[in-house]
Amino acid sequence: MNPFSYARPDTVDEALRLGNQPGARYLGGGTNLLDLVKAGVEQPQHLVDVSRLPLAQVAALPDGGLRIGAMASNTDTANHPLVRERYPLLAQALLSGASGQLRNMATVGGNLLQRTRCHYFYDPGFPACNKRKPGSGCGAREGINRMHAILGASEQCIAVHPSDMCVALAALDAVIVARAPVGERRIPIGEFHRLPGDTPQVDTTLAPGELVVAVDLPPSPYAAHACYLKVRDRASFAFALVSVAAALEMTDSTVRSARLALGGVAHKPWRVPAAEQALAGRPLSAQSAAAAALLLLDGARPYAHNAFKVSLAQRAVVRALQVASRPQGGSS
Ligand SMILES: Cc1cc2nc3c(=O)[nH]c(=O)nc-3n(C[C@H](O)[C@H](O)[C@H](O)COP(=O)(O)OP(=O)(O)OC[C@H]3O[C@@H](n4cnc5c(N)ncnc54)[C@H](O)[C@@H]3O)c2cc1C
Ligand code: SF4
Repeated sequence: MNPFSYARPDTVDEALRLGNQPGARYLGGGTNLLDLVKAGVEQPQHLVDVSRLPLAQVAALPDGGLRIGAMASNTDTANHPLVRERYPLLAQALLSGASGQLRNMATVGGNLLQRTRCHYFYDPGFPACNKRKPGSGCGAREGINRMHAILGASEQCIAVHPSDMCVALAALDAVIVARAPVGERRIPIGEFHRLPGDTPQVDTTLAPGELVVAVDLPPSPYAAHACYLKVRDRASFAFALVSVAAALEMTDSTVRSARLALGGVAHKPWRVPAAEQALAGRPLSAQSAAAAALLLLDGARPYAHNAFKVSLAQRAVVRALQVASRPQGGSS
């Protein structure tokens, strides 16, 4: 392991100063970054521990939305009364991720920035990985690609974003609040994570040294009809093969509006507005749910080992919508 300095600033300004040194990386709960450092995939010169910054509050916003501090743990966020009451989709997604111990350590900021679980990326002994070593090729394209993308991939990289939380945040139109030495900016979640394109080493639109300080959620009409459905290889901690965040605004049996996002299928949570619009203005039926699923999966391109994800995702969308449409929603 390479030597690195460690600092635990008390203020955001000090964190930004330290985090903008060359070779610096922010450290949240460390549940992803430290594994990557130990494996030699990441080699920071300075670790800036931001986990104790006073940014762990979850608080109502005047417009009826919610601000979640970037240092709030995944456990505290999922269990917060306002999250459970107003955004059960987010609580369900968080609780489906990792294990209790990991969720206690993991922060909201770190969850947003966690890196792909592609096994070629985690093995510096393997020569071909454009995300780890730009220009070296992509081992997964012709290799073992069961967990990989079916949508939005590129010649350079077919990895998926692994977070459950981010799939719910995408469906809920979250906004990421980021601070840099020059000031603060707000990034809609749909513009936060990137598709791989020709630069798969760049996961997000966050600039180097920028610090995520909060996630804002707009007021939501989806609390009564929400379902996060995660399909995985085993019930205890495992990343999603496919996941669906489904949320419906309903009057009696009619869908007024819908939100749908897929996880485990692309380099970012996957949304298709046409699929959501197709559900609006009519009762939810097996046919309308299947039609929305087809629109959401339009253009899917599987690889040698993951063709099953296409039909799995279609069925998961239908099931998540059916569960969400029931009174009080809830997971299956
Ligand atoms: C065994 C195992 C199983 C898991 N299963 C799941 C799962 O099923 N679903 C799931 O969603 N996740 C899963 N995870 C991943 C876990 O959710 C992430 O590791 C965790 O959310 C990362 O948060 P952290 O605070 O520990 O981040 P860290 O490891 O501290 O940091 C991760 C990245 O974020 C950056 N960072 C941290 N905070 C900030 C900030 N405020 N601003 C800017 N950059 C920042 C760091 O520099 C680093 O690049 C699993 C992890 C493990 C080890
Ligand atoms: S899919 Fe992406 S992360 Fe995986 S080997 Fe290819 S370039 Fe690397």
